[in-house]
Amino acid sequence: MPDSRNILNISCREATRLASESHERALTFLERAALVFHNVLCIVCRRWVAQIQFIHEIMRLYGQGAGQEFHLGARLSDETKNRIKDALRREMA
Ligand SMILES: [Zn+2]
Repeated sequence: MPDSRNILNISCREATRLASESHERALTFLERAALVFHNVLCIVCRRWVAQIQFIHEIMRLYGQGAGQEFHLGARLSDETKNRIKDALRREMA
């Protein structure tokens, strides 16, 4: 866990752990600050965070249709499919 002395120097491993935990619990101020500072400097972690957020969004959309046939493409609207395609294009750019 970062403290005020190492807030600017967390590892990629710690940054990804904090990013994952941010979906499960509220990060402390120092944890959020350390993650933001790290992601400003580290493109690898920044992209990883974007991918994790994308996966969470996909799972949220899938969860909205829970109980239906397990075929993601069959239940997404054209608008949602286009949003996903746009997000993928942005990530791959
Ligand atoms: Zn990193």
